[in-house]
Amino acid sequence: MPTSQSDQYQDIRDAVRSLCAEFPDEYHRRVDEERAYPEAFVDALTKAGWLAALIPEEYGGSGLGLTEASVIMEEINRSGGNSGACHGQMYNMNTLVRHGSEEQRQRYLPKIATGELRLQSMAVTEPTTGTDTTQLKTTAVRKDGRWVVNGQKVWISRVQHSDLMILLARTTPLADVKKKSDGMSIFVVDIREAMKKGMEVRPIANMVNHETNEIFFDELELPEENLIGEEGKGFRYILTGLNAERTLIAAECIGDGYWFTDRVTGYVSERRVFGRAIGQNQGVQFPIAEAFIEVEAANLMRFEACRLYDSNQDCGAQANMAKYLAAKASWEAANACLQFHGGFGFACEYDVERKFRETRLYQVAPISTNLILSYVAEHVLGLPRSF
Ligand SMILES: Cc1cc2nc3c(=O)[nH]c(=O)nc-3n(C[C@H](O)[C@H](O)[C@H](O)COP(=O)(O)OP(=O)(O)OC[C@H]3O[C@@H](n4cnc5c(N)ncnc54)[C@H](O)[C@@H]3O)c2cc1C
Repeated sequence: MPTSQSDQYQDIRDAVRSLCAEFPDEYHRRVDEERAYPEAFVDALTKAGWLAALIPEEYGGSGLGLTEASVIMEEINRSGGNSGACHGQMYNMNTLVRHGSEEQRQRYLPKIATGELRLQSMAVTEPTTGTDTTQLKTTAVRKDGRWVVNGQKVWISRVQHSDLMILLARTTPLADVKKKSDGMSIFVVDIREAMKKGMEVRPIANMVNHETNEIFFDELELPEENLIGEEGKGFRYILTGLNAERTLIAAECIGDGYWFTDRVTGYVSERRVFGRAIGQNQGVQFPIAEAFIEVEAANLMRFEACRLYDSNQDCGAQANMAKYLAAKASWEAANACLQFHGGFGFACEYDVERKFRETRLYQVAPISTNLILSYVAEHVLGLPRSF
């Protein structure tokens, strides 16, 4: 199916597609049924260097731009896989690249680039405060040359398949800061060490095969040097990484969108009811065409967000709008794909119901659609702040 970007980055697309072809639908279906982690798939992507795309060359990565990284994520989802198993390894290290000390970058990045160290997890969300991040309750207090962490996180993904985790905690009480976004800091946590002394992880069974957890901290001690950047600036550091994350997730949704429109187009061309292909009916054609148009439009916004990011320009509006458009478009495409597969859409062997569940997540995480609308209303249109 020709798409507006089909001739771009063809060499990357071909290489990622050929790796993904070794992991066909049956593989992803089995992993989903077993609620397992796609170890072999993620290993292959890591060994081929695809997940180190954004790590600068001097630290052993390939030093590519967000545009190329987004093409990699898109192709994973377009092949029938789910980047949710590995996208943390692609973008979490950005925090270290941008805000880590040279010592931290040297210590971690080359090993992350080879896959020897996995930095798949970032712990921000908390059960009692949700999207209202500045109210978070987890604290890190400096004591005898160490940080002592207490509190709780929820929905923290891929902890079981990560060696390191970025943690956001309050280091100055809310009552003592001028701005509520001040006084929070980020830390790198060695997961295996932490599990031995004060960190407990409880998996959350969920609708998608997404490895995600509750985390409890009880007097967890972190070495002083695990603080990333300046104390008190952690919230700002997290925010600077979010544009890259949103743009990459947009690309994943676009990959899903093309997967759904490809699949449903093929199916409705073959499936015959009332003596003709169901795809001959305009009632069937139009929702598919509409979804395809929306995926294409979202794709253009995603490349615009990438272009701005890669040229060091502000891309907050475009990254948010790309994520919004792409998550909505992939969901429309998923609905059309499920609908026109009729009963077979519900059969696991067609993979539609699996991809349908997977793409639904992106209306809620990592940022909900409402919060993007709120961002655009306030920061792009200049409407009064609502919260
Ligand atoms: C599978 C999964 C994996 C995740 N992985 C991670 C992870 O690795 N690390 C991490 O830190 N977090 C992770 N999250 C958390 C995710 O980022 C949050 O679930 C998401 O940001 C929404 O926060 P919440 O669930 O607390 O919803 P809430 O903040 O309780 O909001 C619920 C809903 O209310 C609406 N809403 C809330 N406030 C407003 C408002 N002011 N105006 C209008 N509408 C509003 C929105 O529609 C929102 O969807 C994950 C979540 C899931 C489900």
